[in-house]
Order: sequence, then structure tokens, then C-alpha cells
Amino acid sequence: MISLTLSTLAKITGGELIACADNSHTIDELVIDSRAIDEKSNKSTAFLALKGPNFDGHRFAEQVVEQGCKLLIVTHSLAITNSLANTPQLIVNDTRIALGQIAAFVKQQVAPKTVGITGSSGKTTVKEMVAAILSRLGNVLATNGNFNNDIGVPLTLLRLKPVHDFAVIEMGANHMGEIAYTTALAKPDVAVINNIAAAHLEGFGDLCGVARAKGEIFSGLGENGVALYNQDTKYTSQWQWRLTDKIVRTFSCASPCDGSVDIKPDSSSKKADCYSENVVLDVNGCASFTLHSERGNCEVNLTVPGKHNVCNAVAAASIALEFGASLDDIRLGLAQMQPVKGRLNLHQLRDDESGCSIKLIDDTYNANLESAKAAASLLASYPGKNILILGDMGELGSEARSYHQELGEFAKQLEISTLLSKGVLSQSTSDAFAKDNEKNEQSQHFNQRVELFNHLVNLLNKQLLAGQKDIAILVKGSRSAHMEHVVADIVNWL
Ligand code: ATP
Ligand code: MG
Repeated sequence: MISLTLSTLAKITGGELIACADNSHTIDELVIDSRAIDEKSNKSTAFLALKGPNFDGHRFAEQVVEQGCKLLIVTHSLAITNSLANTPQLIVNDTRIALGQIAAFVKQQVAPKTVGITGSSGKTTVKEMVAAILSRLGNVLATNGNFNNDIGVPLTLLRLKPVHDFAVIEMGANHMGEIAYTTALAKPDVAVINNIAAAHLEGFGDLCGVARAKGEIFSGLGENGVALYNQDTKYTSQWQWRLTDKIVRTFSCASPCDGSVDIKPDSSSKKADCYSENVVLDVNGCASFTLHSERGNCEVNLTVPGKHNVCNAVAAASIALEFGASLDDIRLGLAQMQPVKGRLNLHQLRDDESGCSIKLIDDTYNANLESAKAAASLLASYPGKNILILGDMGELGSEARSYHQELGEFAKQLEISTLLSKGVLSQSTSDAFAKDNEKNEQSQHFNQRVELFNHLVNLLNKQLLAGQKDIAILVKGSRSAHMEHVVADIVNWL
């Protein structure tokens, strides 16, 4: 963080300083978690106490002072005990709002070129792609991991330093108004909606609600801000009213993620400002394609598998073009991008002289209907036997069962060989997959991970004994389903 004096912090937040001997003292780091305090660092750290339904940061005040914190940002003055006595306290009405106010101030001072990225799927992936491209042009600060909510976005902005030329900010939401809030803090120069799909439906009611919530991102754009969205997405009418006085750009993918629920049947990809064509997948499912833009065309080779990553790459390229990247920067940046943990990570478990290949694709980071369909499509593109292992998809509201069923039907259409599921809702997926299914071999539901794993081991042993050369296994589920344990079981076994 840039250094800020106590008096500046009081001014930004409208708070009152108490127990403060010197308000010109500076703070150069702000934490909300006592575990983030590095006692050995010589930084002057402030602790901001957040309060939630199940926790209250104020309880840690004494401890963080002992850890060396130089300022407490709190909602009420804390009793002066020995260790607190000399530590200044900044009393504010609401610490969550104060966090946002400080973050917005830091952003304004550093003033990097900023992009805000939202959408139902692919935000983290697009963010990583954009960061990979823009880091060829300058210093990039990007959201760490998935810090994309009303706490994560301000924490990200607080990490800005004068050295940063670009800020790439992921913005997620599980309720209305969250993106309006985070985009008002980040004030992006470019605001992007990657796609709209059935995710976090519980907070939004239906897909129109999801689109309205994502559309909030455009409210943070300044006068010369650019609104960028996937023109193939349905529900764009939910945000058009916000764009009357904005510069609008669109992107499109010639090969959208197969079976996606949000692709307009009549979309004409060529009308977009930036679009893909001639998509070809290699043996690992990684795409090559031609990127068309107003600045010319280039051939792009992706290092991450899945056709849907073409959409993510076109979004990333569109953003980078707004910030002055050349087509070469885009091509080279995307070719250097590292896979993101838990998103279609490909493990080649066996590739021996007899020609036997077992691929394991770890897509356990999260799941919604669209991303599960995209993953199933990737799996279906591999030769030989394919095994889809699914945990429950969470937060899908009252229609959750039918979405799980739709996924089973989709996997059946793709002629996936085997579908194994674990959880509660995913029983509907395996049932739908099994119903009137003559082509596919197996479908089974499990309540316990160990049962699923034992079944899988038997199945693989049988297939290997029968001389099966190519086997691909893809594991996916929502965060709450913790399907990464299944991945670990398989890796440890093979
Ligand atoms: P979250 O809402 O959890 O932050 P996210 O929007 O950041 O998710 P990623 O983390 O990039 O998305 O990817 C999450 C899952 O969605 C992964 O399984 C990934 O393979 C899949 N996915 C990524 N991009 C797309 C896309 N454009 N269409 C469909 N699925 C996608
Ligand atoms: Mg994310």
C-alpha cells in the first residue's frame, strides 16, 4: 500500500482519531486478519476490525497490538488496557465502508489503467490471461486468487503501489449491489462482462437477475470508460440502458463453449469488434485460433485446454487492445499464460511405451451448469474412454435439480462413456445420464468418496486389462463439494 498518515486516514473515512499523539505518523500496510501480520517486517501496520454474523475482528485488538500494529480501525473505542493504551484508534461508523474508502483513495492516488472483469464463468481465467499480456507492457497488479467480493476488491486495491501501471480486478457477486459497490471503488477504465449463466442463482432469482447484477459493473465507468461484453450473450438488454453515454465494444467466439445456456442462437460473431475463427484443438484439448480485431489478425495458441478458453482469450485480447497491447503482445502473452489451479488442470498420469495414456483433468475449483457443460465437452473431445466424475453444483436455487438433470442429459448427448457422481443433487445427473441410455456404459451415484474411488479403481483395472489405450478422467464440482480430494485419491493411486 502507499503510505498514508493517520490524519489522511481520518479524513478519508470521516473517522475520529483517539489516543493519537502524532497524527502525521504514517501507515504503510492495512490488514483485516491477525494472521496476515508479519511481526518481523518493519512496516507500520494498521488493523481494521471487520464484524460479521459469526466473527468480530474487534476481539483481536489486544493481540494485534502485541503483534506490533500501529493503528486500530474500529467502530467503537476499545477499553484502554496496558497494551492498547498507546495505540491510536480510528473510530469509524462502519469498518467495511472505511475499508472501501481507503481502497478507493489508494486507487485514485496510484491511478493505474484499470480493468474490472465480471461474468458468471471465466473471470479468474480472463484475469490471468490479461495479466499475462499486460505484463509485457508494464507492471501489473492483479487480484490474488479469487479475492473478488466486497472485501476482496478493496484489499486488492490496497496492494497498489506507484510502480503499478495496470490493475486487473476480478469482480464477483452473490447479491445485488455488490458489483455496483466494488466498481465504484475501482472506477475501471474498461469494464467487462465475460458471460451470463446459471451461477449464484440463489442471490439473483433468475438469469435476468444475474445479468442485471453483472451490468452494475458499467456504473463504475468514468467519462472515457469502455464497456466491453460478449455479444453472443443473451440478456444484454438488462444492461443496455447503462450504456447510452459509454464507449461500447464487443467480442465474440466462433466456437462458444458447447451447449452453453447463454448463447443466442442467431448470433453473428463477425459483427463483434474482436472475434475468433478457425478454432482447432490439439491432442490435449488446447485451442489454436485466428483472432480478428480492428488492428488486424493473429494466430493464437493457448496453453490451457477447453474451447471455452477461446472465449476467455478473446475477452482478454479485447481488454489488452484497449490498453494499447499489440497483436504480438497478445499472442506471446497468451502463449506464456500459466494454468490456474483447479481449472481444467491436465495431469498426464500414464503415457507408457505400450501406448497407454491416462489423462486426469482437475476442474474441481468450482462448478455451475455452463462451466460443467464446457468441461464435459472438453472431455468428450479426447479419444478413447472418457469418465466424468461430478460432485454437486451449489447455489443453484429452486431449479437446482433440473440443472443437474440437464447436465446428465448433456453428457449423454456427448456420448461420455461413464458418469460417476457423488453428493446429493448430482444423483439427478447420473439418473438423467442413465435414462434410456444405450450407447453409454456406466452411470453410478455414490454418497461416499471412498465408494466412488473403489468403483473407479475396479473400472480402470478392467479397462486396462481389456487393452484400452486411451482413458481420460475429468473431475468437477462446486467448491463446497471438495472434489479435489477425489483428484488426490486418483493421483496417489496411479
Ligand atoms: P468464480 O465465480 O468462482 O470466481 P470465475 O468466474 O473466476 O469463477 P474461473 O475460476 O476462471 O471462473 O473458472 C471456473 C470454472 O469455469 C472452471 O471450471 C473453468 O473451467 C470454467 N470456465 C472458465 N471459463 C469459462 C467460460 N468462458 N465458459 C464456461 N466455463 C468456463
Ligand atoms: Mg474467480
